[in-house]
Amino acid sequence: MTTERALKPGAVIGILGGGQLGRMLALAAARLGLKCHIYCPDPASPAFDVAAARTIAAYDDEAALAAFAAAVDVVTYEFENVPGATAEFLAGRRPVRPGPLALSVAQDRLAEKTFLAEAGIEVAPFRAVDSDDDLDRALAEFGGAGVLKTRRFGYDGKGQVVIRGPEDRAGALAKIGHAPAIVEGLVGFEREVSVIAARGLDGEVAVFDIAENDHRDNILKTTRVPARISIKTAEAARAIGENVAAALDYVGVLAVELFVVVGEDGERLLANEIAPRVHNSGHWTEDACHASQFEQHIRAIAGWPLGATVRYLDVEMENLIGADADDWPRILAEPAAKLHLYGKAETRPGRKMGHVNRLKTKSRGA
Ligand code: AMP
Repeated sequence: MTTERALKPGAVIGILGGGQLGRMLALAAARLGLKCHIYCPDPASPAFDVAAARTIAAYDDEAALAAFAAAVDVVTYEFENVPGATAEFLAGRRPVRPGPLALSVAQDRLAEKTFLAEAGIEVAPFRAVDSDDDLDRALAEFGGAGVLKTRRFGYDGKGQVVIRGPEDRAGALAKIGHAPAIVEGLVGFEREVSVIAARGLDGEVAVFDIAENDHRDNILKTTRVPARISIKTAEAARAIGENVAAALDYVGVLAVELFVVVGEDGERLLANEIAPRVHNSGHWTEDACHASQFEQHIRAIAGWPLGATVRYLDVEMENLIGADADDWPRILAEPAAKLHLYGKAETRPGRKMGHVNRLKTKSRGA
């Protein structure tokens, strides 16, 4: 249902962050007749190339933020580390979607795990770590192994130490700079999957098919859909996406990363992380689904009805990281490959330069 609060075509969406996610959001918005104004401190932001307007300024520049707010109809973001004060400042002037609860939960691993557990979603055992004693006590409870993670600003395995035994324990806190942290039990998972859910302004929720993710050097390398999980597990994963979106009173697209653990009584899911934004493991939706995750996010924050999440084909998304993207001529020549390049001027090892969606005939699957 389109609500009274719905934007009209021609309205301007303000996006904090100018990376590839902002770029793909702006492309989806343009197709629907909406304009995007990108706010990012980096003058070389890939999203600037495809947006109607840009602001190059720091996230704490109140004059620039005020001018940005005055120029847009709604504000969203493409990264979860938007400073709380920035979101608050903008929220006093324009609707910020998703709202502050999602940001505060996703920015702090302790708040995130606590939120998930309170929502009745299973997570690995976890404890807050502010001292050597805290870490020793938790590791003793977890059988001597665990994953130490900074509470804030961790991504792609950064700010993390895997502790398999006493030899890893020794320098663990120093490795994360003695920052406030949590330690989790080390999960022996079979695979990693993610659920991408969209929630509209009226509370309608639409969930995509569950995706299976493989990492290389802690960075997502491939996502395949359908995931190799049972239909029952896929349904449980979808329910987690729906629950998280509803519990956060969320507007927009979010991702929940999940571990699939196989035990005697079959598959079990443990939630690892919430991303309050469009997500790399949802890029396959651009070419395999009726509405992509980017279109869903734009529809949701514009107060428009969500699109269908129906998937037409099986698909494997491969991230083009660093020099992988130099292969673009070969990928272009593949008949079933859809190439996406982010227009980044400089190739660096570990940098996401683009992705390719390889489409296949649809199989039966979860
Ligand atoms: P994260 O930054 O929390 O997404 O973690 C990065 C990666 O580390 C995950 O994708 C997993 O492969 C691995 N990992 C994170 N937490 C755990 C855990 N508790 N047990 C085992 N592996 C983990």
